[in-house]
Amino acid sequence: MSDNAAASFPLPIISLTEPAAPPPVRRLPPWLRQNLAPGGGLGETAALVAELGLETVCSSAKCPNRLECWSQRTATFMILGNVCTRPCGFCSVPRGKTEELEGDEPERVAEAAKRLGLAHVVITSVTRDDLADGGAEHFRRTVEAVRAATGATIEVLVPDFIGKDGALEALMEARPEVFNHNTETVPRLYRTVRGRKSVYAWTLELLARAKRLMPEVKTKSGLMLGLGETREELLDVFADLLDHGVDYLTLGQYLQPTLDSLPVDRYVPPEEFDELGRIARGMGFRKVASGPLVRSSYHARDMAEDGLVETGGQPAA
Ligand code: SF4
Repeated sequence: MSDNAAASFPLPIISLTEPAAPPPVRRLPPWLRQNLAPGGGLGETAALVAELGLETVCSSAKCPNRLECWSQRTATFMILGNVCTRPCGFCSVPRGKTEELEGDEPERVAEAAKRLGLAHVVITSVTRDDLADGGAEHFRRTVEAVRAATGATIEVLVPDFIGKDGALEALMEARPEVFNHNTETVPRLYRTVRGRKSVYAWTLELLARAKRLMPEVKTKSGLMLGLGETREELLDVFADLLDHGVDYLTLGQYLQPTLDSLPVDRYVPPEEFDELGRIARGMGFRKVASGPLVRSSYHARDMAEDGLVETGGQPAA
C-alpha cells in the first residue's frame, strides 16, 4: 500500500500462547500501553464506513490509534481497493490479486467525509503497480469529489507512482493542500522494509517534484523508528528531506502487525522521540510530530493548519 500509508500503523502482536518469558522485544513498554476510553463517535464512524463500503488505513494497517481517532469521528480513507501490489515487510494490508476500481468510490468517500463533518480529509491508497497510471486519476477524482462535497482541506498520502509517467502531474491537478509520501525508513533498510521495487532516491524526488509542480502545497513525510536504523542515519534522512523541500515530518514507533512482518528491533523511548523532534525542528522543518504512537495521519489537521501539533499525550516537537 502507499507505504505510507502509509503506512505503518500496526498493532503489536498479542499472543494467547505467549511463553512465560517472551523476548524483550515482544513486551510492550509502558509508554505504548494505552488506556482506551472510546467515546461516542466510535460506533458511528464504524457504521458509516461499513454502510458506504469504504476501506480505511486505520483498520487495514491495524493502526493503534483507531479507537481514539474513530471516537473523535476521524478516519483516513484508503482508496483503490484493499489489496496492494508491493511486498512491504512492515505492512499488514493484504497483497495479491488486485480489485477492480469502483467508479463511485470518490462519491462514497465524499459522502463519508461530509457526514463525519471532517474539516481536513486524509486520503491514501494501496500501491497499484498494475494500473497504467498507478491510480492517479482515481485519486484526483476522489480529491475533487471530497472537496466539492465538504469544502475541506485535503491531504493525499500517496504511493510512489514509480514508473508511472504523468501520474503525479495528474494527481496534482486536484491541488491538494498537503502532499504526503512516507519515507518509512533509512536508505540502508529500504530493500528490507519496503521491498525491492522501492527506491529511496525516488521517494525524495517525488516529494521534490510535488513541490515544484505546486509550490504552495505543504509536503510531508514520515519515518518509522525501531527497525534498526541509527541516529546518524536518521539525521541524514532529515537533511535529505529538507534538501528536497519537505515541510512536515512525522516520527513514530514501528509495531509489528503480524507474525510474518518484520520484527521490532527496538522500542524507542518517548524522551528519544522528543529529542529527535526537537533536532528535526531545529534543522528547519515547519512542523514535526514525534512520539511512539504518532502516525502519518495522526492529528493531521493540526499539522495542516500549521498550528500546534497535538499528539494525544505523545511528545510533539
Ligand atoms: S492515526 Fe490515522 S490511520 Fe491511525 S486511526 Fe488515526 S486516522 Fe486512522
